Amino acid sequence: MKVGSAEDHITVLIIDDEENIRDGSERILTKASYNVLKASGGEEGLKIVKNDTVSIVLLDLKMPGMDGIEVLEKIREYDETIIVIIITGFATVETAIEAMKQGAYDFIPKPFKPDQLRITVNRASEKARLQHEAEKLEQEKKRTLTDLDTEKSRIHTILTSLPYGVVVTNTGGQVVLMNTAFRQLLNLKPDKKTGNGIEHYIPDTALCSQIVDISKGKYVDYDDLTDYEFSLSNGTYLLAKGQPILGEKLECLGAVVNVVDVTSMKMLDKLKSEFIAKVSHELRSPLSTIHEQLALVIRDEVSEVSENEQHILTRAQEKTRGLISMIGDLLDLSRIEERLICQDPKPVQLDQLLKSIIEFLGTRTKMKNQSLVLDLPKDSLPIINADPIAMESIFGNLITNAINYTPKGGKISVKADLAGVNIRVKVIDNGFGIEAKYLDKIFERFYRVRKEKTRYITGTGLGLPIVKGLVDSLGGFIEVESTPGKGSTFTVLLPING
Ligand code: ADP
Repeated sequence: MKVGSAEDHITVLIIDDEENIRDGSERILTKASYNVLKASGGEEGLKIVKNDTVSIVLLDLKMPGMDGIEVLEKIREYDETIIVIIITGFATVETAIEAMKQGAYDFIPKPFKPDQLRITVNRASEKARLQHEAEKLEQEKKRTLTDLDTEKSRIHTILTSLPYGVVVTNTGGQVVLMNTAFRQLLNLKPDKKTGNGIEHYIPDTALCSQIVDISKGKYVDYDDLTDYEFSLSNGTYLLAKGQPILGEKLECLGAVVNVVDVTSMKMLDKLKSEFIAKVSHELRSPLSTIHEQLALVIRDEVSEVSENEQHILTRAQEKTRGLISMIGDLLDLSRIEERLICQDPKPVQLDQLLKSIIEFLGTRTKMKNQSLVLDLPKDSLPIINADPIAMESIFGNLITNAINYTPKGGKISVKADLAGVNIRVKVIDNGFGIEAKYLDKIFERFYRVRKEKTRYITGTGLGLPIVKGLVDSLGGFIEVESTPGKGSTFTVLLPING
């Protein structure tokens, strides 16, 4: 049907061989705001139908040449939504009924009154309008369905092409969507259907219960959601990260979990650690020998070593000492990574351990004219089960750093207390401090902050990675707060029942 926009007037075509009927009808309909076109015969009428936007045709049945029934057929063939009203003389009522059967909408017997024509055409025009509305709605529906289909297939294509696994759960923790990569990573059969609980797809209980919690909206703070590493029985290491899917009112609709294969990274890391451990091990004995021999030459009062040579030898000895200490740190790190440390936990009384470290380091603080105080709670701290060497290494490193990175005359204090299920130890100094941008980096291997004031302080950049590795393997937590020029506070939390 050819109906323009709502503001457009409906076009009515009058096909009649009687001029007075054409003109009379035109007057009546023009007054009623219709667009009127006229044709004196069937051929001419059909041409207009094809060239103009005609909605209603008033068609005389009895015309010379092509008769009304034939014209009606041709109009219906061309566009069956055009509404045809038959105009007929009394004698041809039967033919008019036949025309109705063939799809004419209504008929008006000749002669007709203006009102009769207006009412009939108005009714037809209302039908035209409704037809047009219905057509528009149908088109809109089709478009929406096509849009939805396109959107769905677009999301599907994006998900399928992602290199990492994606799985989506509803609020009950049931899988509603998973991509090909997820199936492949988790070794799921190609015909494995969605719809079951997440535990039917991921063989790690802790991860599944975390995903169920996320799906139920138990995690409000995204920062609480950490990466989760797990392994499959075929030796694959996977890293998963989940997050809630939020609706418009921020209500939780489920969870989306990304899964990445980190096996090659793990292998590479292992190879790197093994290589470092091997090289360090091989270097340690010859270096120790050189160090001892240098000491012999320096101590030997009989040999003719000039003062200048003595100075060079002492510098060489300092360097070898530095190298030996770095090798020791590297070997410690490899042992931590291989989880060879903290394997033999013993009851540790932290008060005693801290006292003895402070006593031992006291000589260094005296040389720098620094104060080093230990602040313990009145009641002794609960005994924790941990590797004593690991504990000594953690606090020895932190307190040595505080001494090293605090100028002469500075203050260092070590405070230990109970914090819920943890023992909390703070190592506080009023030294050089660390700029915020370096706070994460200092826990990386070999990372040393290069600043004018600390340039001359020797070190390997391995102390804090060792501390972090040990704290992690004890199930603890370490954090640092610092203000440049004012000092730093390193806080360690160790679980009592670790
Ligand atoms: P190292 O002390 O051998 O350089 P660490 O891993 O122990 O290695 O420390 C890394 C860096 O962190 C140090 O080089 C130093 O710049 C910074 N740092 C560590 N502890 C402190 C501290 N208490 N105050 C200021 N800076 C510190």
